[in-house]
Amino acid sequence: MTDSFFPAGTLVGVLTTQPLDRVLDYKAPEGGCVPGDFVEVPLGPRKVLGVVWGAGRGDYDLAKIRSVTRVLDVPPMRDEMRSFLIRAADYTLTPLPAMLRLATRAPGLGDAVSMRKVYRLGKTTPDRMTEARARVLGVLRDYGGLSFTLGELADMAGVGTSVVKGLVTLGAVVEEEAPRDTPYPRLDPDYGGKALSDGQARGAAVLCEAVRTESYGATLLRGVTGSGKTEVYLEAVAETLRMGRQALVLLPEIALSGEFIARVEERFGMRPAEWHSGVTMTERRRCWRMVAQGDAQLVVGARSALFLPFRDLGLIVVDEEHDTSYKQEDGVLYNARDMAVLRAAICAAQVVLASATPSLESWANVEAGKYARVELDARFGAAVMPRMGVIDMRTEALSAGHWVSPALRAKMAERLQSGEQSLIFLNRRGYAPVTICRACGHQIGCDQCDARMVEHRFLKRLMCHQCGETKPMPEVCPSCGVAGKLNAVGPGVERMGEEVAALFPDARIAVLSSDLYGSARAMKAHIAEIATGGADIIIGTQLVAKGHNFPLLTLVGVIDADLGLQGSDLRAAERTFQLMRQVAGRAGRAEVPGEAVLQTYQPEHPVIRAILSGDEEGFWSAEAAERRGAGVPPYGRMAGIILSSPHVQEVFDLGGEMARRDGPLREIGAQVFGPAPAPVARVRGRHRVRLLVKADKGAPLQAALAAWVAQFRPPSSLRMAIDIDPQSFY
Ligand code: ADP
Ligand code: ZN
Repeated sequence: MTDSFFPAGTLVGVLTTQPLDRVLDYKAPEGGCVPGDFVEVPLGPRKVLGVVWGAGRGDYDLAKIRSVTRVLDVPPMRDEMRSFLIRAADYTLTPLPAMLRLATRAPGLGDAVSMRKVYRLGKTTPDRMTEARARVLGVLRDYGGLSFTLGELADMAGVGTSVVKGLVTLGAVVEEEAPRDTPYPRLDPDYGGKALSDGQARGAAVLCEAVRTESYGATLLRGVTGSGKTEVYLEAVAETLRMGRQALVLLPEIALSGEFIARVEERFGMRPAEWHSGVTMTERRRCWRMVAQGDAQLVVGARSALFLPFRDLGLIVVDEEHDTSYKQEDGVLYNARDMAVLRAAICAAQVVLASATPSLESWANVEAGKYARVELDARFGAAVMPRMGVIDMRTEALSAGHWVSPALRAKMAERLQSGEQSLIFLNRRGYAPVTICRACGHQIGCDQCDARMVEHRFLKRLMCHQCGETKPMPEVCPSCGVAGKLNAVGPGVERMGEEVAALFPDARIAVLSSDLYGSARAMKAHIAEIATGGADIIIGTQLVAKGHNFPLLTLVGVIDADLGLQGSDLRAAERTFQLMRQVAGRAGRAEVPGEAVLQTYQPEHPVIRAILSGDEEGFWSAEAAERRGAGVPPYGRMAGIILSSPHVQEVFDLGGEMARRDGPLREIGAQVFGPAPAPVARVRGRHRVRLLVKADKGAPLQAALAAWVAQFRPPSSLRMAIDIDPQSFY
């Protein structure tokens, strides 16, 4: 943006957050405005949020053009942010207003800077001093010149608020207005750094050097769980703070941030700003404003923190960069890892992608020389990656309805004997994935989705994992009406809990699954208790694979290593490999060596063998070769189009027409596959059809897709979602 100024009354173009396909003309308000100003403008009967995007077009009846209501009291959007929104919109084929909504997701941005009353020490002393009054004045004196809110002050002094008010009347305490949103405390980059091992120090030096260039660059930071990746990238954060720039650490899961915030506080002496769905609205607004004015040095957040208005962003860390939750699957479909790289490139920042099990995309970018690579090989301290083994289920004797093989059972018994913990891993929530009627063979499904209902015995209900719908377990079969014949088929973690309890009646058993907790806090508390020895055997879903430390754990048993290998997802092998390595990495953190065993019916499967051998480079090379051969990501480009509607005919009609009129796609050599019923063909009562578009890596896919879909006028009941680089294929 040029640093032009629009005097009052001149025409300006305003991009609003409303779903309109153009920038609207308004007259600049009294006092004028500049490009990037956040403004409130009238739209029909309402007032909406917008950004001054440039000069007006002037192609609209001048008499009808209204004035910008007011310029908001926040720093204008920077050029860098504007470019980022435009390029992210182009990449994801998202309308700009939707991108602007992502960038303004703080409540009360339009409010005047809100004020509140605060209290500080006055100049006079009251004639009549009571004990309560003395306590209030004592608190204020103890804290030097600081001011407090009424509630804070009364609490700290242990008096009623009327005592404080009384002192105000007497002039002993001063009441004044102060902005509600206050800067975050300064972080001290030299506060609590750990003495790094040689390897860690080398890695940290590389990252710090990169930060000092104040230019764009991306580095894959790889090391097994516990190798000290966090320690190392916090050094890069420290260097960024020393340079006077801001840093952003993205985490995949909110559940982790409590533990993480504590670590940041240990390292920098103060808490950073936080941005995720668990943060209050007031705190969100504070974060947004302080980030914009440079009074938040470090933000720890979920993927949407990428859209915060940083004043001078110098470093973005994407922790657990392979994590699928970085892909937003609702609304604007973007991958936060890729958008982090885009944003960094635009604002001359460094990106650190940290993972024990990187995505093939990032691995390929290192191979192609686009990303640097820092390896932390050994774990910090004595422990190493656990011994890996398989249990060949074809040779194990197991009765129906049981899943713990005798071999695994023997290993668990040893651990129990020696007072060590075991983890039984099964990535299936609930009690049983299928409920079948033994009289007629009917399987209980969801009324709204093409999915079976999963029994959750803990909740005493059946639940659909697609839409969340629940219903009580019926007394009689809904199909044949026979009573007493409904039967649970297959294992979920709750059922594993029963089986293990029967095998080890004296063991303390904990089942860990996200749906068993009322709140993230309750879950965290329970995990912390287990980590300090509160259970002998842990039974868990994917939840346990992510970052939690269990120092007493020395055995990991994977109930069904074949589970993720089924299905047609192009990333099935990669996901299984990552998940198995992560779960195995839970075992043997401290001085006691660990062991991980996989129960499998196909021990010769190449993925299982790669997991066992620990030959990651071998695995990635083989996987890369396969994908290169098939021309699929990251060696080719893909887009998924999901059409959904309550009317099944509609989606197939449009899908068929789209497949036929594929001219714009053929022009760039892209191919369309489908329409085909989506793997989950009905969700929440909407029928789903998908098309897949495949193109060469260099092909201008977005432009072709835009031209292609512009040919069609879908009925209003039909929704079309375009997913660039789809991650899941459901
Ligand atoms: P990762 O992020 O690779 O899983 P972490 O950085 O979390 O590894 O390190 C694992 C554990 O080891 C943490 O508790 C961390 O504090 C500790 N640790 C790592 N490096 C050091 C070090 N140089 N000095 C002291 N403790 C360390
Ligand atoms: Zn459902």
